This record gives sequence, C-alpha cells and structure tokens, in this order.
Amino acid sequence: MSTTLLRVALQKSGRLSEDSYQLFKECGIRFDYGTGKLKSVSSNFPAEFLFLRDDDIPGYVEDGVADLGIVGENVAVETGRQVQTVHKLGFSKCRLSIAIPRGEVYNGLSDLEGKNIATSYPRLLGDYLAGEGVKAHIHQISGSVEIAPSIGLAEAVCDIVSSGSTLLSNGLKEVETIFRSEAIMIAHTDLNADKQTLLNKLLFRIKSVQTAKFNKYIVLNAPNNALDKITALLPGMKSPTVMPLAIKGWSSVHSVLNENEFWENIEAIRAAGAEGILVIPIEKMIY
Ligand code: ATP
Ligand code: ZN
Repeated sequence: MSTTLLRVALQKSGRLSEDSYQLFKECGIRFDYGTGKLKSVSSNFPAEFLFLRDDDIPGYVEDGVADLGIVGENVAVETGRQVQTVHKLGFSKCRLSIAIPRGEVYNGLSDLEGKNIATSYPRLLGDYLAGEGVKAHIHQISGSVEIAPSIGLAEAVCDIVSSGSTLLSNGLKEVETIFRSEAIMIAHTDLNADKQTLLNKLLFRIKSVQTAKFNKYIVLNAPNNALDKITALLPGMKSPTVMPLAIKGWSSVHSVLNENEFWENIEAIRAAGAEGILVIPIEKMIY
C-alpha cells in the first residue's frame, strides 16, 4: 500500500479558512484543526494539512514543501511564485481597487499621474499602471492601507474590497477595479505520479460537491394529462423519473435541475398543473 501523503497548505485563520475547512468536510475528508495546531493528518484520506499565513502558501507550494494550497488569486499573482492553478473554488470573492478621498473629483486614470498610491499589492498595481501607461509612485505598506490618505501618506490607495464598507468608513471612494479574485487551489508544478493520482481523486470530489451545489432534486405531483408538458420543463440528468401515485390519473415526477433553471420555469411548471413541489438539496453529484 502506498504511504504517499498529499501535503495541503491552508490559511491558519482568516477569510479563507472556514470555507477551506468546509470544502474538505463536504468532500468527506476529515482532519482536526484549530487551537494552535500547525499540522494535522487526515483520518480517512492520505493527506496532511499545514496551517499557515496565506502569504507564505505560494512559496511553500513552489518549493514543494506543500503539494497543494488554497489562496486568493490576488496573493497567488502578487507573490509571483511558480505554481499551477488547478481549480477555482468560488469563495472569498473580492476585488482589488484603487480608491481616493470621497470629496475629490475623479475624471479617469490620468488623474493618478504622479500621485502616491499606498498598497500591499505593489506587483499587481505596478503591472496594471504600466499596462495603462500611468506613472505613479507606489508606496508599499503591509496593512491598514485605507488610513494612508487621512494621515498624509498617499493621495490614493489600492486595496481589497468586497462590500466597500471599509472604504466608506474611511472616507474613500472606489474609482478603478484592477483585479478580480476568488479562492483557488494551487499545486506544485512537478508532482510525482502518486501525488498527481491523489490530486485527481481530490479534484473529482471537489467537482462533485460544486456541481451538487448548483443543482436541486425536484419532486412533484402531476395529473397524467400534464406529464408531457411538465417533463419537458424538467430535463433531469438523463430524463425525469415518472411513477404512478396511489390515486388514479396522477403521477409523481422526480428530476434534477439547475436551481436557476428551476426558478425560471417554476411558473410554467405550476401553470401546467404540478402540485406539492419539493426542492431538495443534493450532497454529491457524479456524472
Ligand atoms: P494572514 O494572517 O493569513 O496573512 P490576511 O490578513 O493577509 O491573513 P485575510 O484578510 O484573511 O488575509 O484574507 C485572505 C484572502 O481572502 C485575501 O487574500 C483575499 O483573497 C480574500 N479576501 C480578503 N478580504 C476579503 C473580503 N472582504 N471578502 C472576501 N474575501 C476577501
Ligand atoms: Zn496574509
């Protein structure tokens, strides 16, 4: 039996942590975390988890100390490490934006020419400004970027935004979005065959969980004379299941549907005569 362990680096505590831990839980992979633990071996999947600061994860993955890691795309790109993105995870969505004091007029990027911009993302900002042909001074600071204008350190900031409330409470307004980010799974560029096999198993589970989240199991009752119309609105994975009810002339219809598609078709489904409609979450979905 192979003793290879996939080493996975996760953020110890921060905005990526809970969703990262939850993702593995949903994939049926158990491990202990919290209370100062620095690493943990899963009890039911050949993986060892390392709990680190997010900024250090791309470096560990590049060096091969970890095989995989979960980080924000913003951090993966900013660190400039040689790693491969193996999957987008859809959580911790945010954007990197330039903001200026709320009272100031903004006519476009040329207003930033010659200005001081404070940021923790000098590479992303530098690349963006170079691409737009704007020359500004990038002032690198490691935290509390949004107070820079009010203490006279910079005329503008470039920072992570999700709702915009932090900017607002610091008297700033967002004027340019330079990068959109979400959590991604990164991997070492040269995994050995055993580790690649484990990664493929993990990705298969992650994709099954993600697909299931977008779909619902639908159960409804319908008069038999409406079945053609209703089943056409519920295509299912292959085709819907139709079973007779105990009452004559009625059937139960079961199907799997993308949730958006379900909401778009719900009026037509009811108008066709469907009753007692149940929408049930799906845990895993395998095609
Ligand atoms: P660490 O202590 O591990 O260095 P940190 O303070 O640098 O943590 P967090 O604030 O936990 O980082 O953010 C981690 C990642 O989550 C960011 O790099 C970004 O991709 C994403 N993120 C940051 N702010 C938000 C937000 N408001 N909403 C959603 N995602 C965010
Ligand atoms: Zn960090």
